[in-house]
Amino acid sequence: MSEPSGVGIVLGTLEKFVDWSRRSSLWPATFGLACCAIEMMATGASRFDLSRFGMEVFRASPRQADLMIVAGRVSQKMAPVLRQIYDQMPDPKWVISMGACASCGGVFNNYALVQGVDQIVPVDMYVPGCPPRPEMLIDGIMRLHDDILAGKYRPRIQGSKRVTI
Ligand code: SF4
Repeated sequence: MSEPSGVGIVLGTLEKFVDWSRRSSLWPATFGLACCAIEMMATGASRFDLSRFGMEVFRASPRQADLMIVAGRVSQKMAPVLRQIYDQMPDPKWVISMGACASCGGVFNNYALVQGVDQIVPVDMYVPGCPPRPEMLIDGIMRLHDDILAGKYRPRIQGSKRVTI
């Protein structure tokens, strides 16, 4: 068998390479609010193995994270804390709203809970369910990956305008 000759060459734009790099190294902030957080923790554990997607490193510091997974209901008391953590995350950053409570208050239609975390931070991906299973969270993450790779967030990152979902 002869040795393959020549050198492999990959061509692409720098923008595409940057999108691919961002997609391939999203690091979530360690941040859970209620029962949905248990499913989020299961997603990072060995059975579902989020590390397959370069995401096993849940960061304890928002300074080192670029993905906020809002897993659970958001109380009015917690809302300013959540916003502060979001503000401390460096750009570019993304938010996933995980579960019915985070997305719209769920069954808790009362004065104590925020009726949708998009009132506090901009949400890029909604994952439905009560609670969503780890597969559903992974599906939401992979859809976000696809959007990042497709360049959907480039205008926002470049500061021209916000892209609405
Ligand atoms: S959506 Fe369901 S599982 Fe998630 S925080 Fe609300 S009540 Fe809990």
